[in-house]
Amino acid sequence: IKQKQIAVLGSTGSIGTQTLDIINEYPDKFRASVLVAGSNVELLIEQAQKHCPDMAVIADERKYSALNSALKPLGIKVAAGANAVADVMELETIDTVVTASVGYSGLLPTLRAIQAGKQIALANKETLVVAGELVTRMLKESKSEIIPVDSEHSAIYQSLIGEDRSYIRSLIITASGGPFRNKSAEELVTVSVKDALSHPNWSMGAKITIDSATMLNKAFEIIEARWLFDVNPEKIKAVVHPQSIVHSMVEFVDGSVKAQLGLPDMHLPIRYALGNSKRLHTDSKGLSIADYACLEFFEPDSEKFPLIKIGHYALERGGNTACVINAANEVAVSAFLHNKIRFTQIKDIIEHTLLKISFVTNPTLDDYVETNKESRIIAEELIQSKLQLE
Ligand code: NDP
Ligand code: MG
Repeated sequence: IKQKQIAVLGSTGSIGTQTLDIINEYPDKFRASVLVAGSNVELLIEQAQKHCPDMAVIADERKYSALNSALKPLGIKVAAGANAVADVMELETIDTVVTASVGYSGLLPTLRAIQAGKQIALANKETLVVAGELVTRMLKESKSEIIPVDSEHSAIYQSLIGEDRSYIRSLIITASGGPFRNKSAEELVTVSVKDALSHPNWSMGAKITIDSATMLNKAFEIIEARWLFDVNPEKIKAVVHPQSIVHSMVEFVDGSVKAQLGLPDMHLPIRYALGNSKRLHTDSKGLSIADYACLEFFEPDSEKFPLIKIGHYALERGGNTACVINAANEVAVSAFLHNKIRFTQIKDIIEHTLLKISFVTNPTLDDYVETNKESRIIAEELIQSKLQLE
């Protein structure tokens, strides 16, 4: 059989490099046919030299000539810029797109891949956070399908195989609780960037690691689950599970609960998504359940981590609300990583930005683009005039 041709959007990141590991693990099944990076041209060149894709694309246009001079002699096509990143998604030879880029930048390329009928292994949850309603509508009009890569959603997806959606009583999304689970509210005010980047169980990119520390990541995952599984938001809950072994659960109307377990290793959900629900044999070490004498579950502390509640709020208010939250958060997280604001001010920036952006009821793609742009400007202004936040 023909190898599945895979485009990796964000090949140089945490999920991107792990996706290439899986492609490497099954060379007779998969081939990396397109690699897309943001700005890390050195790593992109190295990956292209190893995988020999048809095309390598970099979002940062300033890196074009470096990419071109390294890869042209190898017969690999090269392009640069945001438009090229979106255009390449339509390439006829691509079967599956792994959306492993971070943040809002994943939205437009993912929409193009959906329009082109590609299979989507979705890691970029921000696509569904920003524009879940639009994405869901477009999926219905296309032969494209999404298989989740996010570990919680992969767990729910797996637990729902062979089940009727009408039997769902609740979706229970597990959360590690992040690095600050045992800190007091007062201590959170003074945590450092280094502390926030030290996730107890998962090794991930910087942005999602901060989102895990604020627990906004769980709010985003609630939004993601609502659109992926078409479940009423009231039925979606989060539970803190510090061991990160149970990746999520589905409770059914007969009182039965199904869960999926595994080590906290993103290679697992990536392997499952690329296998398109078929189990691929691996020799890598699996879960030895007897190593875990205790698996704990707690209610999340929404006093200490108020952002965990903002997912339900955004779904209830609808419109462009989640798009505003996502944009303000991206700006705030970047400011925190550059030591411009305190950890606890991430929430303040999101809330203040929400107050200043006009509500749009049924946003079009242009409305989302505009909301994202305006929200970033407002959030940047708030950071410049930090005193307003005190
Ligand atoms: P990283 O920060 O490690 O990687 C981000 C990737 O996106 C890099 O390849 C980066 O390129 C690329 N990128 C940045 N800007 C652009 C752009 N404008 N156009 C195209 N590519 C761009 O992030 P993660 O791998 O941690 O996360 C990726 C996505 O997966 C996120 O949406 C995250 O929420 C989700 N996710 C991640 C998990 C994890 O374990 N890491 C778990 C579950 C979900 P470059 O470095 O070259 O600039
Ligand atoms: Mg997750």
